Amino acid sequence: MPTDCIFCKIAKGEVPADIIEQDGEFTVFWDIKPAAPVHILIIPNKHIRSINEAQPEDAALLGRLILKAQAIAIQQGVDQDGYRLLINVERGGGQSVFHLHLHLFGGKHLMAIHG
Ligand code: AMP
Repeated sequence: MPTDCIFCKIAKGEVPADIIEQDGEFTVFWDIKPAAPVHILIIPNKHIRSINEAQPEDAALLGRLILKAQAIAIQQGVDQDGYRLLINVERGGGQSVFHLHLHLFGGKHLMAIHG
C-alpha cells in the first residue's frame, strides 16, 4: 500500500475518523464532507486502489462489501426508504481517494441517475 493512503491510515487507527464499526475485513465510517444526511463510507481494510485493480480473488470480498452496506443501511434505518451505493472509479469517475470505498447515501430523496 502507498504509505500516504489516508484510508489505510484510518483502517489502522493511525488517523482519526468517526468510525461506526470495524472488523477484520472492513472499516465503516462517516464521510467527513457529507452529501446526504446519511453518508457513510465502507472500505476494505486491504488496500485496493480502485475497482480497476480488483482481482478475481477479491470477488467474495466485493460481495461481502455490498452485504456490509446492506447491514449498515438497516442499522441506520434507511433501508425501507431506500439508499444509494456508489463506487467512483479513478479520476474521470470522480474518485479522489485512491483506496476502494463504497459510498452509502440515504436520508433524503435521491434523484435517479441514468448516466
Ligand atoms: P471519492 O470521491 O469517491 O474518492 O470519495 C472520497 C470521499 O472520502 C469523499 O466523499 C470525502 O469527503 C471523503 N473523505 C476524504 N477524507 C476523509 C476522511 N479523512 N474521513 C472521512 N471521509 C473522508
